[in-house]
Order: sequence, then structure tokens, then C-alpha cells
Amino acid sequence: MIVANLKQIKSDVPAAVTVVAVSKTKPVDAIQQAYNAGHLDFGENKVQELCQKQETLPKDIRWHMIGHLQRNKVKYIAPFVHLIHGVDSERLLNEINKQGAKNNRIIDVLLQIHIAEESTKFGFSYEEAEAILSKANAFENVRITGLMGMASYTDNNGQLTSEFSGLQDFYIKLKESNNWTTLSMGMSNDYKLAVSLGSTMIRVGSLIFGSRN
Ligand SMILES: *Cc1c(COP(=O)(O)O)cnc(C)c1O
Repeated sequence: MIVANLKQIKSDVPAAVTVVAVSKTKPVDAIQQAYNAGHLDFGENKVQELCQKQETLPKDIRWHMIGHLQRNKVKYIAPFVHLIHGVDSERLLNEINKQGAKNNRIIDVLLQIHIAEESTKFGFSYEEAEAILSKANAFENVRITGLMGMASYTDNNGQLTSEFSGLQDFYIKLKESNNWTTLSMGMSNDYKLAVSLGSTMIRVGSLIFGSRN
């Protein structure tokens, strides 16, 4: 099932779009199945769970931290994390830079932009993101490689379209000057729309691994 689901999703999107298989709450053998079929990108949203899975699973897995990240937990994932999607404050960016230096690596991150209507979702406004970008050169051990956004929890296509295309416009405007490669948007329910609006990376959980409790 897992492998077939993944195959289906990959066939739905251009080959250049990275599918991050969101394995949060799912056991390691579910991840192992996808890995055995050649999949390497997995996403988790809890640091402790991410670290436990990273310890037991193959070392060439690319781990994506997709959830809200607390500053005091950056140190646990800094040695190995492939991409941190949810950077939503300058203080967090500072801490990632510090831990990157300690681990002698440059950590790739995305700035999370608040595009949803719900106030519960984290992220910068477009104005705040531009302010951060103007200071980004000061960070030697962190590299901002693009943007991430989570649309509203709705099946209103018009609203989803306007949220995704707003993010797409902002991404396109700043892409060249910042050497960006990655626009992370789209989940199980909206990844096709997100890809049609320029997403280069989708984060899909339940459609691959089944629903979570
Ligand atoms: C859980 C989660 C996903 C995946 O959600 P599905 O609806 O199961 O595909 C994607 N992005 C983030 C940030 C998540 O927390």
C-alpha cells in the first residue's frame, strides 16, 4: 500500500517536484518499506520522534523537520537534519546558525510564511520575511533555500488558490536574488493545486501512510 501510494503521487507530479513523505506518528517499519522502494525524503514534526527514528533507520535518509521548532531543541537535530521547513523567527534562525557552526555544517532552512486565514498557524508575514532576508548574509552556518507555507484547512478551492498563488508571487519575486531552489507547499488534500501553482516540494502524509489517529 505505502509503496503504491507513493508511486501514484510521484506519477501525479513532475519529476522535479520533491515528495517529502510525512511519517509522523507512523512506525519505523512503514518508513523502511518506502525506503526499500528507493524513497529517501521523510518529514517529521516532533524532535524527539525524529531523533529516535533517525537513530534506528538508514543513515542516507534525508530528514525534513516540518513542524514548529523550539529553539532549545535545535541542538538535537542540527547534526543530521536535511532541511528545516518551519523557520518562523529571527531568534530561531540565530540558534540554527549557532548549532550549524558547532556541527561544522551549513544547515538549509525555509522561511515559513503565514498564508492561512487561521491565526493558529505559524509563520512570517511577507514584510517580516523581507526584513529577515536583508540580514540573512550575517548567518554563515544557515542557508535560506526558499519558502514554506501551509494553506487554510478548507476545501474552498478559490481560497486555497489565492493563498498558494500569493506565496508563489512572493517566491518568484525574490527567487533569483536569493538563489532559492525550494517552494514547499502542498499536502495530501491540496498537493495537485499547489504544484500547479509552482510548488517544488510537497509534504504528503496521510495519502501515503494512511490517516493518523
Ligand atoms: C502533518 C503535516 C503534513 C502532512 O499532512 P497530510 O495532510 O497528512 O498530508 C504536511 N505539512 C506539515 C507541516 C504537517 O505538519
